[in-house]
Amino acid sequence: MNATSPEVIAKVLYAKETEKKTYKQISEEYGVSTSTIQRILKDNHSSAIKKNRKYPICPKCGKTIKLMEARYCPYCAEDIEPKNMKIAKELRKLLKVMQYIPQSQREEANSTLLHAINYLENIEVI
Ligand SMILES: [Zn+2]
Repeated sequence: MNATSPEVIAKVLYAKETEKKTYKQISEEYGVSTSTIQRILKDNHSSAIKKNRKYPICPKCGKTIKLMEARYCPYCAEDIEPKNMKIAKELRKLLKVMQYIPQSQREEANSTLLHAINYLENIEVI
């Protein structure tokens, strides 16, 4: 099924998250059904949550930090945001300027960027 190819998934995610397009617009543009769009969004959201569920451990004081969104250790104030998440965040900023590059190169660049972000957000590094 071509509806679930990585290219289509990348395009749908970009259209929804960055361009803030509606389901109808995405559906018409890429020829995917509303339920496929919902599934793509759900899959990508839930896989990111599932893989990051483990509590982080502070690399400085070694304590378990029971706050999923913590960026600093509550015990010793060490910056605990993993490097991969920092880089992913920077790359996400780049997605916003993608609209300024020529249409002919935009899709490939977006797709590459989204793959890189997805990879970074789903590997475990500390
Ligand atoms: Zn600490």
